[in-house]
Amino acid sequence: MPSTMEELTRLPGVGRKTANVILGYAFDVPAIVVDTHCRRLSRRLGLTKNEDPNKIENELRRLLPAEEWLGFSHRLIIHGRRICQAQKPKSEECMVNDLCPSSRVSSNRTL
Ligand code: SF4
Repeated sequence: MPSTMEELTRLPGVGRKTANVILGYAFDVPAIVVDTHCRRLSRRLGLTKNEDPNKIENELRRLLPAEEWLGFSHRLIIHGRRICQAQKPKSEECMVNDLCPSSRVSSNRTL
């Protein structure tokens, strides 16, 4: 199994998302996995305005220390599956609804 982004993305059917999963989980290399959940939540949370997964990956890399990359993207994926779903985010149940600019819960918080 190749162990670099360049080698992995040369394999048929392997893009950056899959390569980052392999690098992060098989080789313990700092990696950000931008799937549909990570992409949606990064936008909803105001971490990016980009649509392109590669640009989102680069923005998250700049925002976070490398040791947090894999865990952070994995937490966004889990949160997106369970709470911040695409069609109907459960903002009332969300533990970051007081911080999220896309929250559907009214807040008295002043910025
Ligand atoms: S507050 Fe709502 S939109 Fe924001 S992350 Fe939570 S579930 Fe998603």
